[in-house]
Amino acid sequence: MQIPALLSLEQFPDSPYASELRRDFPDLRFSPALESDFQAFHLDRMRSRVRVFQLAICLLCAAVAAHLVFLDSVPVREVLLGWLGLAIPASLSLVWASWSSFYERLYLPAARIALPLFGIVSAIGVAGHRLDGHPDPFYFLTSYSIALFFLGGQLFRESLSANALLIVAHATALAYLGEPVESIVYYVCVLTITAAVGAFVYCGVERQLRTSFLERGLMGEMAARDGLTGLKNRGAFDDHFPRLWQQGLRDRRSLALLLIDVDHFKAYNDRYGHQAGDQALRRVAQVVQGFARRPLDMAARYGGEEFVLALFDLSTEYVQDIAEQLRKSIQSLGIAHADSPTAPCVTASIGVSVVRPKIGRSPEGAVQLADESLYSAKRSGRNCVTLVDCDHALFATGSFRRRA
Ligand code: GH3
Ligand code: MG
Ligand code: MG
Repeated sequence: MQIPALLSLEQFPDSPYASELRRDFPDLRFSPALESDFQAFHLDRMRSRVRVFQLAICLLCAAVAAHLVFLDSVPVREVLLGWLGLAIPASLSLVWASWSSFYERLYLPAARIALPLFGIVSAIGVAGHRLDGHPDPFYFLTSYSIALFFLGGQLFRESLSANALLIVAHATALAYLGEPVESIVYYVCVLTITAAVGAFVYCGVERQLRTSFLERGLMGEMAARDGLTGLKNRGAFDDHFPRLWQQGLRDRRSLALLLIDVDHFKAYNDRYGHQAGDQALRRVAQVVQGFARRPLDMAARYGGEEFVLALFDLSTEYVQDIAEQLRKSIQSLGIAHADSPTAPCVTASIGVSVVRPKIGRSPEGAVQLADESLYSAKRSGRNCVTLVDCDHALFATGSFRRRA
């Protein structure tokens, strides 16, 4: 997936995906929040490969352990049996993790221990096996070195350090068993070259994968964005608000919904033209966005010249205050509107509902309440705020309840 050529990353000043794409992530790492999303995305892609790989390792560990029990001539038999005692439970836990519902949470932490551990066991085992006079199973180490990059589910840096441990373990085991220095240098060189080739190829693969993850995220943000104002669009709001409602229900917190409608905007377009109307909408949108300051708050273009602002867990008095500030800020933009009967500049009316989610009430009801409130602000002369609290006796018996 690629971002369309007509779009520039500068159009997404506050997108974490765009900022990583701009940075070009030379260290193959994202900011912490995005990095953990990427790891989850990567692990999800790798799940079936990881299963087969871990199952193969587990079976291999068991076969080697059985082999060692019946064969006592291997020089490092005791060391190997000791390591296998750790490696078998570790790889069993990885096989389990790759099938369980805890996969995303457990697999990587366990793999960070088990994969290097299995590399060390293999490095020692291969050294011992060779000196025992059996055919040289060195190819196993080079295969494992490559598999660490492409099948283990770990990312570049972790795979690289697991490879380094494998090389050190193999060289140490060979030295311990009295292998000549030239031979140790030869094996270390072969392993280092294999790891370097694996690292070089995998580095490109991971870079490509990270780029497509960022582009996917950016496309998702684009789909949720209103093209004219850059605010979230109606679809994104319709997605967000029921989730905010659920959170309010769980945490017993109130929600405030502000519907903001620009006054006499048709007259503005008629007088100043559609382009100027678009520009005015962009400026109003920026002001509305400035009031969604906390992570759960959301500003969106609700449609036409209407905006919506959802605020989480604020007292009714504070919401009234914020709505009033917002109204004044829009007026203070000072966008001349000579044909407005309300004021010589662009103004907006704001309908607010403050609701406490409960079983039997609904997010749609909260929107309707804000809508009724907006209607009332329009009737009261525009450029004003009308607020209804869902627990207010008058409104609690109105459409808010009926819709719920
Ligand atoms: P009221 O004070 O009752 O809200 O009057 P109004 O004229 O703002 O309301 P009305 O619903 O009659 O008209 C809304 C206008 O908003 C009509 C439409 O041309 C304009 N509008 C809606 N979307 C856009 C847009 O994207 N760009 C521009 N320039 N105008 C838009
Ligand atoms: Mg309207
Ligand atoms: Mg209007």
